[in-house]
Amino acid sequence: MDFELSDEQRLVEQSVREWGAREVAPRIHDLDRAHQFDPAILPQMAALGLLGISVPAQYGGAGMDYISLGIACEELEYVDTSLRVIMSVHAGLNCLTLLAWGTEDQKRRYLVPQAQGQQVATYGLTEPAAGSDVRGIQTVAVKDGARYRLTGEKMWISLADVADNFLVFAWSDLDKKRQRDPSGLSAFIVERRFPGFSSGTMKEKWGILAGNTGFFKLDEVEVPEENLVGRPGEGFKIAMFALDQGRYTVAAGATGLIRACRDASTKYAKERRTFGVEIGQHQLVKEMIAQMESDYQAARLLYLRAGWLKNRGERCTRETGLAKWFATVASERAAGDAVQVHGANGYSDEYPVGRFYRNSKGAVIYEGTREIHKVMQADYVLGYRVDRATRCQLPPYPAK
Ligand SMILES: Cc1cc2nc3c(=O)[nH]c(=O)nc-3n(C[C@H](O)[C@H](O)[C@H](O)COP(=O)(O)OP(=O)(O)OC[C@H]3O[C@@H](n4cnc5c(N)ncnc54)[C@H](O)[C@@H]3O)c2cc1C
Repeated sequence: MDFELSDEQRLVEQSVREWGAREVAPRIHDLDRAHQFDPAILPQMAALGLLGISVPAQYGGAGMDYISLGIACEELEYVDTSLRVIMSVHAGLNCLTLLAWGTEDQKRRYLVPQAQGQQVATYGLTEPAAGSDVRGIQTVAVKDGARYRLTGEKMWISLADVADNFLVFAWSDLDKKRQRDPSGLSAFIVERRFPGFSSGTMKEKWGILAGNTGFFKLDEVEVPEENLVGRPGEGFKIAMFALDQGRYTVAAGATGLIRACRDASTKYAKERRTFGVEIGQHQLVKEMIAQMESDYQAARLLYLRAGWLKNRGERCTRETGLAKWFATVASERAAGDAVQVHGANGYSDEYPVGRFYRNSKGAVIYEGTREIHKVMQADYVLGYRVDRATRCQLPPYPAK
């Protein structure tokens, strides 16, 4: 067992940390308050190689391992959750899924420009009536010669108003839709420029305000059958495979958020004095900071283990889910305590911890709610749930 990062992984950590501190940290407060997604961040992330970080060089990526992906996400969310969300939907849910499940033609047409940062991609599963209950989605894909016609509406989609390409899930078998049989779901690549596609931003959101979240509508959108990902009926497996990749990035990012809470709280605890001493001298304040530290260390080990398993080419849905569940719940706790350590000042946007608090809640909801993860982990322990290798897997790192 080796707990040391490689030189390459350290370089990723250092370069993302320096970029975030220099380019984003000074502006994030204003972007967040203005509810403003800054598109200029995307070419900068592309220039750092982040948008295709774990995509092999032959498909336009940086060819780095999955631990490097996790470390980049930790560093990005240390600055702001909105940056890590870009990685989750683009680099995780979309690119890694195309890498495993896409045809060579799809990789050439979509994965290469996405990994190079020329196109941005996201993931469209959730609908107004269905999030956790994937079988409840209503979007349909009707086969019509050499194309499918997609009709439906997706909401709560990160980068909905920004992305060029969308990995969309829809029922291609309407009998199975009626029976709620997930083998009737298929996955498609939909381009924004396809006629019948429209999108919008959700303005009422109260967290991740520097990020873009929205909806898109598909009105008889014609999708060529070459854009079917996997085989007809493999959509549910592909949606779950994608979540394995997205959850890994969320776990790593939430770990960075815990560290941000710990650091902000430590700084404040040494500045603020009550009853004649720094508040860091009070045992109950120490307890909150100690909890942040233990949560940070444990969350980091859990996501690094999942990244290590990914590098070995092993399916690690169980380990990734545990890392995501633990880190997100712990980040919500850390953010609540970071506000508490700051007292009334924590209740003001003058300090970053209020933003951490708002941002932390989202990750306890998306990519499997806290409750869904609890049930999953209990089912693994009880033996009700066992993971089997899927037809397509991520390539190991280094390539065998
Ligand atoms: C900021 C943000 C960004 C997002 N980005 C994306 C995206 O890019 N793409 C995308 O497809 N989706 C995205 N989502 C949607 C997200 O994945 C869903 O919100 C999530 O899956 C939960 O679904 P829901 O909101 O419909 O809640 P519901 O499924 O309706 O759940 C409501 C409550 O019931 C509980 N519950 C439901 N079923 C069970 C059960 N079986 N057992 C116990 N408790 C249960 C849940 O835990 C929750 O507390 C995003 C959401 C947010 C907030």
